[in-house]
Amino acid sequence: MGARIISGTEIAAQIREELKQEVAGMKDKSGVVPGLVTILVGKNPASISYVTGKQKTAHELGFLSLQDDQPEDISEADLLALVDKYNRDPKIHGILVQLPLPKHINEKKILTAIDPDKDVDCFHPVNVGRLVIGGEEARFKPCTPAGIQELIVRSGFETSGAEVVVVGRSNIVGKPIALIMMQKGKGANSTVTVVHTGSKNMEAHCKRADILIVAAGVPGLVKPEWIKPGACVIDVGVNRVGEKKSEKTGKMVPILKGDVDFDAAKEIAGAITPVPGGVGPMTITMLMKNTVLSAKMSVK
Ligand code: NAP
Repeated sequence: MGARIISGTEIAAQIREELKQEVAGMKDKSGVVPGLVTILVGKNPASISYVTGKQKTAHELGFLSLQDDQPEDISEADLLALVDKYNRDPKIHGILVQLPLPKHINEKKILTAIDPDKDVDCFHPVNVGRLVIGGEEARFKPCTPAGIQELIVRSGFETSGAEVVVVGRSNIVGKPIALIMMQKGKGANSTVTVVHTGSKNMEAHCKRADILIVAAGVPGLVKPEWIKPGACVIDVGVNRVGEKKSEKTGKMVPILKGDVDFDAAKEIAGAITPVPGGVGPMTITMLMKNTVLSAKMSVK
């Protein structure tokens, strides 16, 4: 029997609908409207497309959404002053500085200048620390890992006591999803193993996984025989492996593949995310969720 396909597109749409209701309710009750500013430096086409997607979603959910475009040659001091302006603006609850920044600007300096209470990307060391401490202390969750957790939970997989194996230990995916899944509490409480390029016998670790989360950036790294029958497989990898002509537009578009051999894996796994259409759509949605949370916290 083939695996159930976990559609990030459908789950993201469901969460967006819930957020829309929440935003409308918040507006009625307290007059607070979640405010998100995205700061874009320069004209990198990929960054423009990411920022446009974020703004479009924020607008659809009823947020106050602001896009602040800055020239490529903005000085570090001016960018820091801009961040400070939004830190002090009570209408803004989330500040996102689109990366990468030009080489003359120290990214770390800019990201740590964002007020941790408005750091909806959850990149600030204070928020990373809060996530490590867990419990009441944790506020925002970084967007891609938070999206992964939602996919697992909303697909009905039991996480408590589950063997979770994470392939990859990056600061944006591997480490935070391992931290999230090991927390004491609902939708987590798992036994977590993290494997990486220093690990011996990756196959043996992966084979034990009730929930296998793969974020390596290596197309087809995880072979079907590494998957435990019935496991939940979350493929975070997005790899460009070529180009094809789009049926819709006739333009050349990239062919995307995940880190898991999808066609073979779906014959063994219990459920699996596709690439594209799995983890991808969840990331922006979780950014919106963090902004709503920030707006809620500002009312208290
Ligand atoms: P990254 O920073 O390059 O980290 C990759 C991790 O995988 C590293 O920890 C690396 O180990 C490990 N790794 C690489 N090759 C391996 C191998 N052969 N065996 C075992 N471990 C290996 O990548 P990332 O930012 O975490 O992203 C990972 C993938 O997810 C990429 O394809 C990226 O495009 C995708 N992604 C998707 C989304 C989304 O929204 N859908 C968001 C973020 C990332 P070492 O630490 O030992 O080098």
